[in-house]
Amino acid sequence: MIRLPLSWVQVVIDIGLLRRPHFLVKDVPEPPDEFSEGFVFREVRGGYQKWLHLKCPRCGEHIQIQLAGARRWTISIDWLNRPTVAPSIW
Ligand SMILES: [Zn+2]
Repeated sequence: MIRLPLSWVQVVIDIGLLRRPHFLVKDVPEPPDEFSEGFVFREVRGGYQKWLHLKCPRCGEHIQIQLAGARRWTISIDWLNRPTVAPSIW
């Protein structure tokens, strides 16, 4: 799946062609220290996705969702970097 660079997506949003999605995916090599508003973080190590990190919109808690192993969630990311996680977490 082709994904636009996040900076391009930002331009598309800035010029008003797209409403800002609730969440965009940012790939990171390790768990984030800080969460930017409107992003979820996909931890990818050695080419394998391990965890999805997000901040609970209700209580602000750091939520980790397992993307590897026998009991895992699946994530699909569209060309605008919008995530869909199954089973649903929200
Ligand atoms: Zn919460």
